[in-house]
Amino acid sequence: MLIQAITLFPEMFDSITEYGVTGRAKKQDLWQFNAINPRRFADNKLGYIDDRPFGGGPGMIMMAPPLQAAIEEARTQHTGSSKTVYLSPQGRPLDHQKVGELARLDNLILVCGRYEGIDERVLAQSIDEEICIGDFVVSGGELPAMMLMDAVLRLLPGVLGDMQSAEQDSFANGLLDCPHYTRPIEFQGMAVPEILRSGNHALIAQWRLKQSLQRTLARRPDLLEKRELTPQESRLLHEIKQEERESHYNQD
Ligand code: SAM
Repeated sequence: MLIQAITLFPEMFDSITEYGVTGRAKKQDLWQFNAINPRRFADNKLGYIDDRPFGGGPGMIMMAPPLQAAIEEARTQHTGSSKTVYLSPQGRPLDHQKVGELARLDNLILVCGRYEGIDERVLAQSIDEEICIGDFVVSGGELPAMMLMDAVLRLLPGVLGDMQSAEQDSFANGLLDCPHYTRPIEFQGMAVPEILRSGNHALIAQWRLKQSLQRTLARRPDLLEKRELTPQESRLLHEIKQEERESHYNQD
């Protein structure tokens, strides 16, 4: 997959191209990256690519012509399927389903806004989709773009040492992940649950599923509402609710 970022700060992307699993995967050529700075297409010697908003008001707006030229240059590198995404607080919230969809593409262009954002006509002309990383505003699209990239890259074959890790992560199967433990067995009076040390893989799998259901019910019940439960999940969820009623009853 080729990911290209249209950004005023190409160096920021070193943190994803040089470090961790994404950095290693890039060295193995499992994905490629290119940053294009719209300043290269400025119509003035000083490289200004922003101007004051028509109608007045605070802040500056990134101008359409240099952004458009940068997007067009990025598209000349494409073969296969592609999408041009603008990271924006006004976009569709990013979730696991969208990440999976993007991971199936051959090319991704990520347009990173700064200041008050970009000229609306770039959106109309060149953006396939606007994506938001949460109901808050950050100063630029680079961090949102890197979050999206990291989530997408984790799903590409070979990027994670063990593909099962991604499959067992929260959201991948519609539930939150179960709790995890490692050495030491005892820590500040808390022991690793006995069952995880039993070596009984069927019982461990069932314990983990029950924990996932319990966490999802407590923290993200909306995920369960959308889910078609398997018979085993229904039974475990029934058990969880029964146990919660009993513990509530015992406390009264
Ligand atoms: N005035 C814009 C608004 O309220 O919609 C916010 C501009 S913000 C200061 C500058 C840039 O940061 C945006 O153009 C966008 O690229 C990026 N950005 C900020 N918050 C974001 C979010 N929650 N999700 C994705 N991108 C975001």
